[in-house]
Amino acid sequence: TYSLGPKISNWNQQRKIWLQSNPQFSNGKARSLLVTGSPPSPCENPIADHYFLKFIKNKIDYCRIHGIEIIYNMANLDKKLTGYWAKLPLIRRFMLSHPEMEWIWWMDSDALFTDMEFQIPLSKYDSYNLIVHGYPNLMFEEKSWTALNTGSILFRNCQWSLDLLDAWAPMGPKGLVRDEAGKILTAELKGRPEFEADDQSALIYLLISQKQWMEKVFLENSYYLHGYWTGLVDRYEEMMEKYHPGLGDERWPFVTHFVGCKPCGSYGDYPVERCLKSMERAFNFADNLVLKLYGFRHSGLLSPKIRRIRNETITPLEFVDQFDIRRSVH
Ligand code: UDP
Ligand code: MN
Repeated sequence: TYSLGPKISNWNQQRKIWLQSNPQFSNGKARSLLVTGSPPSPCENPIADHYFLKFIKNKIDYCRIHGIEIIYNMANLDKKLTGYWAKLPLIRRFMLSHPEMEWIWWMDSDALFTDMEFQIPLSKYDSYNLIVHGYPNLMFEEKSWTALNTGSILFRNCQWSLDLLDAWAPMGPKGLVRDEAGKILTAELKGRPEFEADDQSALIYLLISQKQWMEKVFLENSYYLHGYWTGLVDRYEEMMEKYHPGLGDERWPFVTHFVGCKPCGSYGDYPVERCLKSMERAFNFADNLVLKLYGFRHSGLLSPKIRRIRNETITPLEFVDQFDIRRSVH
């Protein structure tokens, strides 16, 4: 049967010993690694590659501001776990190769940070190992196939997470296995169309059918660890008028995720033009928070053009004190 790799059963112990002999990584602050990536080949539609660039720029900005390391992956580590399943072998690989990291945070290529000030409240998750945006009632009462979203999801680097990946992966292998598993998932999950098994449905199904995992799963919905784009992108002007960054919820969403948009490949659920226009708005909405330190902002949310928002000065450090996000979050 399919396996992600040799079965490891004492990872907590191995990692603990390694950390003891590498004390430079034990300064008290939990280290986080943001992992994202896109397919190894160019997009059919070249404009989509331009948006991949904008989305990685956005993630680099967020990670720089918040002291998070970031990896962009374009390799398929596992021949069988392709497409949306590619994140499983990747997450496992990075856990094992980056023992210094406490959290491995997967984020899809089509998700971006729209609140550059908000920080994940890690201390809230001290006794949890998997943090994912979701709703308990949609999971356990409705059994909805969108009860949680795997586009932005955090794993603690520990044995439990390796075990979860092992339990999650068997529906993933491309071909007959994935096709057959898709039928089970469609039969079991409310609202799921007929298609091959995807990682998100498989995780929901696993958590519903083997409830013991839930002890260590935090279904987060007090802020948008993942935020579905359609309800958000048309409200950015209203948010700017009424609220301020740092809230992370529907008033100023932490993450905007373009679920169902597939501008790089072929078939999405929405017209490509609407997706690209909305992506441009989301990017500029977020980028204004980055440009502020430098004294600029975008002319409008649909324009890559920027304009000055304050005059040059001979005492520039005043503006650093006032506008550098890092000053308020550390
Ligand atoms: N992905 C990847 N390599 C691939 C295919 C997908 O790294 O060959 C990543 C990419 O970040 C993408 C995520 O997996 O956003 C989810 O894949 P999916 O096909 O569901 O794309 P999405 O729905 O995010 O457009
Ligand atoms: Mn996505």
